[in-house]
This record gives sequence, C-alpha cells and structure tokens, in this order.
Amino acid sequence: MLNHHKPLITGKTKLLGVIGYPVEHSLSPVMHNAAISELGVDFIYLPFPIKPEDLHRAIDGLEAIGVVGLSVTIPHKQAILPLLSEIEPIAAAVGAVNTVIRKNNKWIGTNTDIAGFISPLQNLDRDWSQTVAVILGNGGAARAVVAGCTELDCGEIHVVGRNQDKLEQFQASWENSPLEVNLKVHTWDKLPQLIPQANLLVNSTPIGMYPNVEQSALSAEQMQNLPGDAIAYDLIYTPNPTQFLQQAQQVGATAIDGLEMLVQQGAVALKMWLNRETVPVDVMRQALREHLKI
Ligand code: NAP
Repeated sequence: MLNHHKPLITGKTKLLGVIGYPVEHSLSPVMHNAAISELGVDFIYLPFPIKPEDLHRAIDGLEAIGVVGLSVTIPHKQAILPLLSEIEPIAAAVGAVNTVIRKNNKWIGTNTDIAGFISPLQNLDRDWSQTVAVILGNGGAARAVVAGCTELDCGEIHVVGRNQDKLEQFQASWENSPLEVNLKVHTWDKLPQLIPQANLLVNSTPIGMYPNVEQSALSAEQMQNLPGDAIAYDLIYTPNPTQFLQQAQQVGATAIDGLEMLVQQGAVALKMWLNRETVPVDVMRQALREHLKI
C-alpha cells in the first residue's frame, strides 16, 4: 500500500508545481506528491492554473515566491520558451519545454518527454538500427516521439498525418535541428503499405482517448497486418489499455501504454528538481494506477 499520509508542510518546504490551463485533470500532482511523501523530503507539488495571457506575470511571480521546479503542460509548452534563461538542446530541438528547473537564479527549460518515451523501449532487446518506426499523428507529442526514435537511431521513421500541409511543415521544422532527424511523411491512405513493415507503431493522436474508448487509429483489419513481433505504443493513458493496444495484442504485438511514458518523464523531472540519482518510480506508477482505478 502507498503511504497516504498528508505531507507535513513546514516553513522550509520547497515548492514545485505544474503550470497549464486547465490543470484540474493533471495527474502530475498525484504522482509527484506520492514520490515526495515516500522519500520524506521537504517539498510539495502544486497545480497552478495559468491562463495563456498571464504566463509572463505568472513566471515572474513563481520566481518571486521561490518555486524551484515546474512541469509545463498545454497550452504553455511552446509559449514558455522566450521566458526562460536557458533551453537545453533537446528541448530546443523538439521546440517544446515540459520541465523547468530553477538553478543559479535562472529558469532552465528542458524536455523529459523524449526520455519518458524511450525509457520503456530501452528495456526491450531490439536492434533499433533495423527498426521501422511508424508514428501516427504530427502534433506536439509526435515531436517527442520523433526525437526519441532519432535518439534510438531507428532505421526508418515514418510519420502519418491527415493534412498534407501540416505534414510538410512538420518535416521542414526538423531541417535545422541538431538531432539530424531523417523522416518521411505520409497521408493516412498510405497506411496499408506501411503497417506490414512496421516494427514500432506509435499512436500519438488522441483517437481512442476517454470517453471515445471504442475508437482506434487503425481498423481491426489494418491492425491484422502488423507483424506479430512488432511493438505497439499508445501515448494515451486513459483508458488502459486502449482499443489500439488491445487490437495490437490480438496479433501478438508487444504493447506499451502511455502511463509508462507519463511516469518515466515525471521520474526524470523529479530527479532533476531533487538533485537525486533515483526516485521511487514504482510508487509514482502505483499512485497513478490507484488514482485512475486501473
Ligand atoms: P496535438 O498536438 O493536438 O496533436 C494531435 C495529433 O493528432 C495531430 O497531428 C492531429 O492531426 C492528430 N489527430 C487528432 N485527431 C485526429 C483524428 N480524428 N484523425 C486523425 N488524426 C487526428 O496533441 P498532442 O499533445 O500531440 O497529444 C496527442 C496524444 O498524446 C494525446 O492523447 C495526449 O494525451 C497524449 N500524450 C501522452 C503523453 C504521455 O506522457 N503519455 C505525453 C504527451 C501527449 P492534425 O495535425 O491534422 O490536427
């Protein structure tokens, strides 16, 4: 069982939190406070709902009250870039910040979604140079997935979207990236050719997210053509598993859910804020499972 004691807030308690709008549905406070409580460190992690037009004032205010670390979520992941003193190369390459650290009186922005995405893949015994990655969607999360697949050195990266203009913009946005991203973009009608070649199939669209639990980015027939030794990875964490992952498991594929990415990106961030080598990842995962009743 988890340690459900209320945290003891003292005069020295250091502040962490998540900025977004809205933030009511953020799972980060549950996950981080569970780890903080387990570690017995004098920190607290709070939700900060900040409207887009208030972001600048809010960042100044959070600095003034001595906040030591922030998670950044929609709609601030890109908007926060010009307000930071330093941006880590990985966050600059992706064009989005999901984690901010206060260090030497500076706000330093980074992006732990890439590490979070890669983490469950690194435990698998695969030759990534021989891996064909097929990524569904070309939004914000797809950017972290492309960066992750590039870090893994995947042999081929294919991004599938519904809008040719957005796909071309997505591809062009990597041209000057230090990451040396090599990808091809395709419209959805090319899926029948791509699925049989896919070793790693990633859903980075919101299709199938609660309450649309019966939906999947692929039809059952399309999923039938996924190789049985492929990995299917859905970034969605509610429901768990999604229809997409259930279809993939039926053809024998290895399923990875979005909860693991959420936990792992959070663990990387918490290590930075607390300046620790390890954090209780199992406690973070369990806190989310209990909260989501899964
Ligand atoms: P986003 O920036 O809005 O991008 C969504 C992408 O999905 C866009 O490319 C969009 O296409 C496409 N899309 C949406 N509805 C579609 C439909 N009906 N048919 C085809 N394509 C569709 O959102 P995001 O931030 O990337 O998030 C995507 C998903 O990832 C969400 O479910 C989010 O919860 C999840 N996520 C999970 C984690 C995690 O830690 N597990 C982290 C980040 C995100 P257009 O570009 O054509 O509009």
